[in-house]
Amino acid sequence: MKYPKEVRTYCPVCKEHTVHKVKLASKGKARSMAAGNRKHARKLMGHGGKRAGEKTVKKQGKRQKIVLECPQCKKKHERVIGGRTKKKLELES
Ligand SMILES: [Zn+2]
Repeated sequence: MKYPKEVRTYCPVCKEHTVHKVKLASKGKARSMAAGNRKHARKLMGHGGKRAGEKTVKKQGKRQKIVLECPQCKKKHERVIGGRTKKKLELES
């Protein structure tokens, strides 16, 4: 999937449309010792059977995300593009 390098869009800080720079959003690292992750691991313990919180169906694609940077206020905001897709997002040259 291709996406332009610059997009003219609304900036909620400047409250007007400006030409934003587009960057691919990189996902942060999940903390394995976070409280929610530990609770989830506790739920999955045991011997077989039906366990709450265990995924039975895997989603086919990922939702691609971009970071928009406003040149006026230098603020960044994120945007999710379309639905789930298997294709990686790439910026047009
Ligand atoms: Zn702005």
